[in-house]
Amino acid sequence: MQFSQIIGQDTLKKQLIQTVIEGRVSHAQLFLSPEGSGGLPLAIAYAQYINCLDKGEDDSCGQCSSCRKYEKYIHPDLHFSYPFFSSKDVKVASDVIEQWRNLLLEQPYFNLNIWRSKLSAENKQANINIAECHDIIKKLSYKAFEAQTKVLIMWLPEFLDREGNALLKIIEEPPENTLFILIAQNQEQILPTILSRTQLVKVPRLNDGDIADFLISKAGLNRENAENYSFLADGNLVEANLLLQESNDNHVSYFTDWLRMGYSGRVSEMTTFTDTIATWGRENQKNFLRYGVHFLRECCLLIHGADDLVKLPSEALNVARNFSSNVLNPAMTEAIITELEKAHYHIERNANPKILFLDVSLQLVKIIKFKTLPKGTQYIYN
Ligand SMILES: [Zn+2]
Repeated sequence: MQFSQIIGQDTLKKQLIQTVIEGRVSHAQLFLSPEGSGGLPLAIAYAQYINCLDKGEDDSCGQCSSCRKYEKYIHPDLHFSYPFFSSKDVKVASDVIEQWRNLLLEQPYFNLNIWRSKLSAENKQANINIAECHDIIKKLSYKAFEAQTKVLIMWLPEFLDREGNALLKIIEEPPENTLFILIAQNQEQILPTILSRTQLVKVPRLNDGDIADFLISKAGLNRENAENYSFLADGNLVEANLLLQESNDNHVSYFTDWLRMGYSGRVSEMTTFTDTIATWGRENQKNFLRYGVHFLRECCLLIHGADDLVKLPSEALNVARNFSSNVLNPAMTEAIITELEKAHYHIERNANPKILFLDVSLQLVKIIKFKTLPKGTQYIYN
C-alpha cells in the first residue's frame, strides 16, 4: 500500500513522512481513526514507507523487494493482529491471515461487520485474546528476517481483553527496531494502561470532496451523485461504499425485472415501470442504462464460458447465470446493449424519458420474447 493509494488525508500523510525523514518515528503509536477514515491503510502505507529500500520524498517506491512483499501483505516482518472468533481451528489471529490478506487486497477500507462476514463467526464475540497476546510477544521476540523495522499493526485494540495487559511490557520496552501501530475507533474503550504507553495520532474523518472524487474516479459516478453520496457518508468511506453497493443492488433488481417483463411480454407492467423510471432524474436514468450495459456484458462472458472474468455480486450473478443459460444468446445480448446505448445517447439529449423507456421496453419484448432483432444486427441462432 502506497500513500498514493490512500484517499484524502494529505496533511497527515505529510506529517507521517516527516517523522521518517527526521528520524523521529515513535515506536508505539495509536492511530485514533473513526470508521472509514483510513487508519488501517495509512498505517500500512506508513510501515511500507519506513521499510522501503528506495523511498522518495513523498512515497515508497512500490518496486523494491520490501515494497513488493508489503503490497501483498506477505512481508515476514509485517505482522497483523485483529479481533477474531476463536474456535477449535482458530487459536490466534494468524490462523485467519489468508482471509485478512484477501480482504485487504479486495478493499482496505472496511469495518468489523465486513471483516466478520469473511469469517465463520457463529454467535461468538470477536476478541483479541490472551493466546493472541502471547503469539505477538513470541513473534516480536525473533530477530527481523529481512526488514530494518519489524512492524505489528493491531486493528481495533478495543477488543483486547484485560489480558491485553500482557502486552504492556513489550509496548513500553519493545525489542530493537520494532514498531507498534494500533488502530482504534473509540478512545474510551482502550485499556488505559495501553493508551498511556502510546503516542496518539488523530486521523480525521475524510472530507466530502475527497469521498466524492473517489466515487467519481473509482465508481464512475457523476459529480452530482457523488456529492449526494459523500454527503450521506459523512466522512466514512466504508459507508460511501455501502451506499454505492445499495444503489447498484437497486439497479440489479430493476434491470432484471425489466428483462423478465420483456421475456414474458408484460406490457402493462412495463408502463408502470416506465412511469417509475421517468421520476428518477436524468443522471440516475443514465446510470441505470450504463448498469444494464455492464450487466449484459457480464452475461456475454457467461455465455462464452468465461465465468472467471465475471465481476458481479452474488445475487446479480445468480440472475445473470439464469438469463445467460436460459434466455439470452450473444446476438440478442448485443442487440439489447445497442438499444440501451442508443437510449443513453437520447437521454443525454433530453429525450422524453417516458416515451423513450417505453420504446426500449417494446424493443426488449421484440428481442427477448419474439427473438426478432432490429435491422443491421447479425442474428445467429444457437
Ligand atoms: Zn520500496
